[in-house]
Amino acid sequence: MSLLPHRADLLRTQNFINARWCDAMDGRTLLVEDPATAQPFASVPDSSAADAAAALSAASSALPAWRRTAPRARAAVLKRWHALLLSNQEDLARLISREQGKPLVESRAEVAYAASYVEWFAEEAAHLHGDVIPTPHARRRMTAEWEPVGVVAVITPWNFPAAMIARKLAPALAAGCTVVAKPAEDTPLTALALVRLAEEAGLPAGVINMVVCSRERAHLVVDLWLRDERVRKLSFTGSTAVGQHLARESATTLKRLSLELGGNAPFLVFEDADIGAAVDGLMAAKFRNGGQTCVSPNRIFVHRSVHNDFVNQLLPRVQQLKVAPATDPSAQIGPMINDRAIAKITSHVTDAVANGAQLLLGGHRSGHPAGGHFFDPTVLVQVTSTMACSCEETFGPVAAISVFDTEDQVLEAANATPFGLAAYFYSQDIARCWRVSDALEAGIVGINAGALASEAAPFGGIKASGYGREGSRHGLVDYLQMKFRCQDA
Ligand code: ADP
Repeated sequence: MSLLPHRADLLRTQNFINARWCDAMDGRTLLVEDPATAQPFASVPDSSAADAAAALSAASSALPAWRRTAPRARAAVLKRWHALLLSNQEDLARLISREQGKPLVESRAEVAYAASYVEWFAEEAAHLHGDVIPTPHARRRMTAEWEPVGVVAVITPWNFPAAMIARKLAPALAAGCTVVAKPAEDTPLTALALVRLAEEAGLPAGVINMVVCSRERAHLVVDLWLRDERVRKLSFTGSTAVGQHLARESATTLKRLSLELGGNAPFLVFEDADIGAAVDGLMAAKFRNGGQTCVSPNRIFVHRSVHNDFVNQLLPRVQQLKVAPATDPSAQIGPMINDRAIAKITSHVTDAVANGAQLLLGGHRSGHPAGGHFFDPTVLVQVTSTMACSCEETFGPVAAISVFDTEDQVLEAANATPFGLAAYFYSQDIARCWRVSDALEAGIVGINAGALASEAAPFGGIKASGYGREGSRHGLVDYLQMKFRCQDA
């Protein structure tokens, strides 16, 4: 089965600048690789500062007209884009699976999820209200009104090639901003196909501009945007190290920043939990996208009295997961994205075992005939806080389990990380649910729930997981600035 889109024009392999599809000005190219085999299957521009400058000048020229466009007219473009995303769901899903590797069923769900943000922000665009401020002076009028921040730079990762870009582009366009965007080098094709559909939806020239480049050239493209005063905001999803670098580079022009960075999510199973529900929740949260999600439970803490029951219910479920490429309709765990990912997962398992953890399942590459980047779903027990798999995100199909005895002890352990994106816990004691959710240091808390994603909810972290929120009405505010208007009669 081929994973290329039926609609040939959705396979775009050029930059999109000022409504023109174009190669890098210096003609350099970058190969897009099959995640399972690392074999190249497409070639895209490896852009440089000149391409970034052209994209920025297009976004800057398009800004005055787009920000003056009535919110309902902007919403109409977003609604058409939303409809096109859904009517091309299968083709987009194939592209996601082709370049990112996740099973088709997950890719279809990702397209629907991406589209849900576009619909949500189309609705928000027309429902944005400012304030009329009561004043003590009869002859004075005071208002607080929202306006778009201006040109926005958008940088996205590879793990959700459609959703990550949609949930930045949609609120930016709804707010009246124009955009320069750089997708991840591993997965540029989905992002370009989304832009093709935005073009088809009638988006005016210059409102979205997309430039593709290799990791080695990312600083050439992005630094140009960060140092330019015309870019007023950066929205980034990726690693904490790159996020810190981008924040430093943005400091001289004092840009607004939304940074959705790494996580190290704790998953707590208390003695009063419904163990079956906790296992279901862990399966949903841990193994989606092969564990390559920033909200994936990375540290699993189970109360000593229910530990064996939990592990005994979990093991057969993990054992049954089908590791296969997306061309297999029954695939549940696809390949990891690249060699770097496999090396990190392997080193975490090796380190854990060397330091006393017990490997109950998996722990190595799958040796799958479809390629070398498959990793067997893994369960580790007797994990401790100093092991590498507890200190850093593993970003793979590894369930690393520790035992705890008291609520105070587990809360201290759960919060003992610089990160604060997602946290999960299972308990049937209502008082404990309030207490524990209050105490967990995370932007997102799942209480007896493993799948939390929703366009209606504010997604984002605290501490080293960054700041800013995506989705919900707060996701629009991230692209707006407030103007206080004061008029004396
Ligand atoms: P990951 O480890 O998941 O790939 P990264 O933070 O490295 O996460 O990458 C996320 C995004 O940031 C990608 O689009 C990548 O190309 C981009 N990126 C990486 N390094 C830089 C850099 N120095 N400047 C700008 N963007 C970068």
